[in-house]
Amino acid sequence: MQYPDPIAKLIDSYMKLPGVGEKTATRLAFYTIDMDKEDVHTFADALVNAKEQLHYCSVCGNITDVDPCAICTDKSRDRGTILVVEQVKDVMSIDRMNEYHGLYHVLHGVLSPIEGLGPDDINITSLIRRLQNNDEVHEVIVATNATPEGEATASYLARLIKPAGIKVTRLAHGLAVGSDIEYADQMTLMKAVEGRTEL
Ligand SMILES: [Zn+2]
Repeated sequence: MQYPDPIAKLIDSYMKLPGVGEKTATRLAFYTIDMDKEDVHTFADALVNAKEQLHYCSVCGNITDVDPCAICTDKSRDRGTILVVEQVKDVMSIDRMNEYHGLYHVLHGVLSPIEGLGPDDINITSLIRRLQNNDEVHEVIVATNATPEGEATASYLARLIKPAGIKVTRLAHGLAVGSDIEYADQMTLMKAVEGRTEL
Protein backbone atom coordinates (compact mmCIF):
# COMPACT_ATOMS: atom_id res chain seq x y z
CA MET A 1 0.00 0.00 0.00
CA GLN A 2 1.20 3.50 -0.76
CA TYR A 3 0.82 6.46 1.54
CA PRO A 4 -1.62 9.17 0.46
CA ASP A 5 0.24 11.80 -1.54
CA PRO A 6 0.35 14.53 1.17
CA ILE A 7 2.00 12.12 3.62
CA ALA A 8 4.45 10.84 1.00
CA LYS A 9 5.44 14.45 0.23
CA LEU A 10 5.89 15.24 3.91
CA ILE A 11 8.12 12.17 4.35
CA ASP A 12 10.16 13.22 1.29
CA SER A 13 10.55 16.71 2.77
CA TYR A 14 11.80 15.43 6.12
CA MET A 15 14.26 13.15 4.30
CA LYS A 16 15.92 16.26 2.87
CA LEU A 17 17.16 17.13 6.37
CA PRO A 18 20.67 15.96 7.27
CA GLY A 19 20.83 12.62 9.05
CA VAL A 20 17.14 11.85 8.59
CA GLY A 21 16.42 8.54 6.87
CA GLU A 22 13.10 7.14 5.71
CA LYS A 23 12.21 5.58 9.04
CA THR A 24 12.72 8.79 11.03
CA ALA A 25 11.07 10.87 8.31
CA THR A 26 8.00 8.64 8.43
CA ARG A 27 7.83 8.94 12.22
CA LEU A 28 8.14 12.75 12.00
CA ALA A 29 5.50 12.93 9.27
CA PHE A 30 2.95 11.00 11.33
CA TYR A 31 3.87 13.04 14.39
CA THR A 32 3.22 16.23 12.40
CA ILE A 33 -0.18 15.00 11.29
CA ASP A 34 -1.13 14.46 14.93
CA MET A 35 0.02 17.93 16.01
CA ASP A 36 -2.45 20.78 16.71
CA LYS A 37 -3.28 22.69 13.55
CA GLU A 38 -2.02 25.90 15.18
CA ASP A 39 1.34 24.33 16.06
CA VAL A 40 1.76 23.05 12.53
CA HIS A 41 1.13 26.56 11.16
CA THR A 42 3.63 28.06 13.63
CA PHE A 43 6.18 25.45 12.56
CA ALA A 44 5.61 26.04 8.84
CA ASP A 45 5.75 29.83 9.30
CA ALA A 46 9.01 29.54 11.23
CA LEU A 47 10.56 27.60 8.33
CA VAL A 48 9.39 30.04 5.67
CA ASN A 49 10.18 33.18 7.69
CA ALA A 50 13.69 31.98 8.56
CA LYS A 51 14.38 31.38 4.89
CA GLU A 52 12.83 34.61 3.64
CA GLN A 53 13.91 37.05 6.34
CA LEU A 54 17.46 35.90 6.95
CA HIS A 55 20.35 36.80 4.71
CA TYR A 56 24.04 37.54 5.07
CA CYS A 57 25.15 40.93 6.40
CA SER A 58 26.62 42.95 3.54
CA VAL A 59 29.44 44.15 5.81
CA CYS A 60 30.57 41.10 7.80
CA GLY A 61 28.82 38.09 6.26
CA ASN A 62 27.07 37.11 9.51
CA ILE A 63 23.50 35.83 9.25
CA THR A 64 20.91 38.53 10.02
CA ASP A 65 17.39 39.80 9.41
CA VAL A 66 18.56 43.44 9.21
CA ASP A 67 21.39 44.84 7.11
CA PRO A 68 23.98 45.69 8.40
CA CYS A 69 23.61 43.16 11.22
CA ALA A 70 23.14 43.99 14.91
CA ILE A 71 26.83 43.35 15.68
CA CYS A 72 28.07 45.68 12.91
CA THR A 73 25.81 48.52 14.07
CA ASP A 74 26.36 48.04 17.81
CA LYS A 75 28.02 51.28 18.92
CA SER A 76 29.20 49.77 22.20
CA ARG A 77 31.52 47.34 20.38
CA ASP A 78 35.23 47.91 19.95
CA ARG A 79 35.53 48.93 16.30
CA GLY A 80 39.31 48.54 16.35
CA THR A 81 39.36 44.74 16.03
CA ILE A 82 37.85 42.36 13.51
CA LEU A 83 37.78 38.65 14.35
CA VAL A 84 37.71 36.47 11.25
CA VAL A 85 35.92 33.09 11.38
CA GLU A 86 35.03 30.37 8.90
CA GLN A 87 31.35 29.94 9.68
CA VAL A 88 28.41 31.88 11.08
CA LYS A 89 28.23 29.28 13.88
CA ASP A 90 31.72 30.35 15.02
CA VAL A 91 30.48 33.93 15.63
CA MET A 92 27.87 32.50 18.01
CA SER A 93 30.46 30.28 19.75
CA ILE A 94 32.86 33.16 20.36
CA ASP A 95 30.31 35.84 21.17
CA ARG A 96 28.59 33.59 23.69
CA MET A 97 31.61 33.62 25.98
CA ASN A 98 31.29 37.39 26.37
CA GLU A 99 35.05 37.90 26.31
CA TYR A 100 35.51 39.42 22.88
CA HIS A 101 33.71 42.70 22.18
CA GLY A 102 34.99 43.68 18.76
CA LEU A 103 33.59 43.09 15.28
CA TYR A 104 33.50 39.93 13.16
CA HIS A 105 33.99 38.81 9.60
CA VAL A 106 32.64 35.48 8.30
CA LEU A 107 34.57 33.88 5.44
CA HIS A 108 31.98 31.18 4.66
CA GLY A 109 34.75 28.65 4.12
CA VAL A 110 38.54 28.40 3.91
CA LEU A 111 41.10 28.30 1.14
CA SER A 112 41.39 24.72 -0.05
CA PRO A 113 43.47 23.94 -3.13
CA ILE A 114 42.31 20.31 -2.93
CA GLU A 115 38.68 21.35 -3.20
CA GLY A 116 39.56 24.08 -5.69
CA LEU A 117 38.57 26.88 -3.31
CA GLY A 118 40.59 30.05 -3.93
CA PRO A 119 40.36 33.60 -2.52
CA ASP A 120 37.47 34.46 -4.83
CA ASP A 121 35.39 31.57 -3.52
CA ILE A 122 35.29 32.80 0.06
CA ASN A 123 34.32 36.13 1.61
CA ILE A 124 37.79 37.77 1.50
CA THR A 125 37.22 40.65 -0.92
CA SER A 126 34.68 42.28 1.37
CA LEU A 127 37.13 42.01 4.29
CA ILE A 128 39.81 43.82 2.31
CA ARG A 129 37.29 46.45 1.24
CA ARG A 130 36.29 46.89 4.87
CA LEU A 131 39.90 47.50 5.88
CA GLN A 132 40.61 49.88 3.01
CA ASN A 133 37.89 52.37 3.92
CA ASN A 134 38.68 52.28 7.58
CA ASP A 135 41.37 53.76 9.79
CA GLU A 136 39.81 52.53 13.04
CA VAL A 137 40.81 48.88 12.69
CA HIS A 138 44.21 48.16 14.23
CA GLU A 139 44.00 44.38 14.61
CA VAL A 140 42.58 41.48 12.64
CA ILE A 141 42.30 38.27 14.68
CA VAL A 142 42.22 35.20 12.46
CA ALA A 143 40.15 32.51 14.17
CA THR A 144 39.96 29.95 11.41
CA ASN A 145 40.01 26.32 12.58
CA ALA A 146 43.30 24.61 13.46
CA THR A 147 43.30 22.55 10.25
CA PRO A 148 45.82 22.76 7.37
CA GLU A 149 43.26 24.79 5.37
CA GLY A 150 42.57 27.06 8.35
CA GLU A 151 46.32 27.68 8.82
CA ALA A 152 46.85 28.33 5.11
CA THR A 153 43.98 30.81 5.11
CA ALA A 154 45.45 32.57 8.16
CA SER A 155 48.87 32.94 6.48
CA TYR A 156 47.25 34.18 3.29
CA LEU A 157 45.29 36.83 5.19
CA ALA A 158 48.38 37.90 7.12
CA ARG A 159 50.34 38.41 3.88
CA LEU A 160 47.47 40.41 2.44
CA ILE A 161 46.67 42.60 5.44
CA LYS A 162 49.98 43.27 7.22
CA PRO A 163 51.39 45.58 4.50
CA ALA A 164 48.52 47.97 5.35
CA GLY A 165 50.06 48.38 8.82
CA ILE A 166 47.30 46.40 10.56
CA LYS A 167 48.34 43.84 13.17
CA VAL A 168 47.26 40.29 12.27
CA THR A 169 46.99 37.76 15.12
CA ARG A 170 46.06 34.11 15.35
CA LEU A 171 44.22 32.38 18.18
CA ALA A 172 46.55 30.59 20.58
CA HIS A 173 46.71 26.87 20.20
CA GLY A 174 45.01 25.73 23.32
CA LEU A 175 42.80 24.51 20.48
CA ALA A 176 43.96 21.04 19.48
CA VAL A 177 45.34 20.66 15.99
CA GLY A 178 42.55 19.78 13.59
CA SER A 179 39.91 21.06 15.96
CA ASP A 180 36.88 23.14 15.12
CA ILE A 181 35.99 26.40 16.87
CA GLU A 182 32.42 25.15 16.91
CA TYR A 183 33.22 22.30 19.30
CA ALA A 184 35.71 24.06 21.58
CA ASP A 185 34.56 24.61 25.13
CA GLN A 186 34.24 28.16 26.47
CA MET A 187 37.35 28.07 28.67
CA THR A 188 39.54 26.83 25.79
CA LEU A 189 38.14 29.51 23.49
CA MET A 190 38.63 32.23 26.08
CA LYS A 191 42.27 31.21 26.59
CA ALA A 192 42.79 31.00 22.82
CA VAL A 193 41.55 34.60 22.37
CA GLU A 194 43.55 35.96 25.32
CA GLY A 195 46.78 34.22 24.29
CA ARG A 196 46.63 35.11 20.61
CA THR A 197 49.95 35.60 18.84
CA GLU A 198 51.03 37.92 16.06
CA LEU A 199 51.38 36.42 12.59
ZN1 LIG B 1 27.47 42.48 10.08
